[in-house]
Amino acid sequence: DTAMYQAKRRGGGYALYTPEGDERLAAMTLESALHRALERGEFVLHYQPQFDPRSGRLTGAEALLRWQHPELGLVPPADFIPLAEVTGLIVPIGAWVLRQACEQAVAWSRLAPGLRMAVNLSARQFQQPDLTEAVTWALRASGLAPQQLELELTESMLMQALEAHETLHRLKDLGVRIAVDDFGTGYSNLAYLKQYPIDALKIDRSFTAGVASGLPSAARDEALVTAVMDLAHALGLEVTAEGVEHAGQLDFLHRRACDQVQGYLTGRPQSAEQFAGLLAQEVR
Ligand code: C2E
Ligand code: MG
Ligand code: MG
Ligand code: MG
Repeated sequence: DTAMYQAKRRGGGYALYTPEGDERLAAMTLESALHRALERGEFVLHYQPQFDPRSGRLTGAEALLRWQHPELGLVPPADFIPLAEVTGLIVPIGAWVLRQACEQAVAWSRLAPGLRMAVNLSARQFQQPDLTEAVTWALRASGLAPQQLELELTESMLMQALEAHETLHRLKDLGVRIAVDDFGTGYSNLAYLKQYPIDALKIDRSFTAGVASGLPSAARDEALVTAVMDLAHALGLEVTAEGVEHAGQLDFLHRRACDQVQGYLTGRPQSAEQFAGLLAQEVR
């Protein structure tokens, strides 16, 4: 089981459709392991802080899924979400993520009123006819104020889902926020920005990376990031920059009136316990 899983990790990706039997066997082994993980409560959320660069204040957290595997340790989402997506297991896993993240946000709101919680949705979840029910359930069961929940979707999800427009409006009717994750890396038909009820754009870290980097490409990345922020603000949207790793990037984003920053410089994804420690420091 373990050896097979590690072999898959080395190979990268899950070749579900190759004729090789062992590949398929490995995928099936991982699939049943994911089932068990859900039953046994082996999934955990880590939380990455988001800050307002102007005030330096903590504004929210992004919930990031990990699998606490009994033998392998903490498994990153890239290693199991693709298969969970293909098999549909992402739907019950995603419902758990929503519920857990909302409950955590309620607990932390006592220390930090209004703290926002960002949750990633998968393409499969976004296409479920009962997505709004799942979100409503998570909000009701936890008691979280809807405006504190931000759902992250990617451009390709918005382009591919047949009922994207209707789904987004039903989610907005609940009062939750909608953010476009990895902005600029997907299908870039900007028309959706005027049609869909979107609250925020998250600039992908591949753009942030070049900013103030001293690389020959820096000027282009800086121009792109500036243009995206101007576009977002002109449309009344907030902007979060992902992947902020250096002080130079933070300084640039601050000067360009970026609304929120998120990255290894200001805080790595961390356990709920560690995040609670950060919160306690913040409000002191
Ligand atoms: P994402 O939503 O774009 O999340 C940001 C990713 O960038 C996270 O990786 C985070 O750890 C990483 N990151 C944050 N700051 C920095 C930085 O300064 N430098 C670099 N190099 N990386 C940084 P992670 O946690 O491995 O998650 C990867 C992806 O997995 C996420 O990308 C998201 O698309 C997906 N994911 C995570 N949790 C969930 C979930 O609960 N549900 C679904 N459907 N997808 C999830
Ligand atoms: Mg995200
Ligand atoms: Mg994402
Ligand atoms: Mg992202």
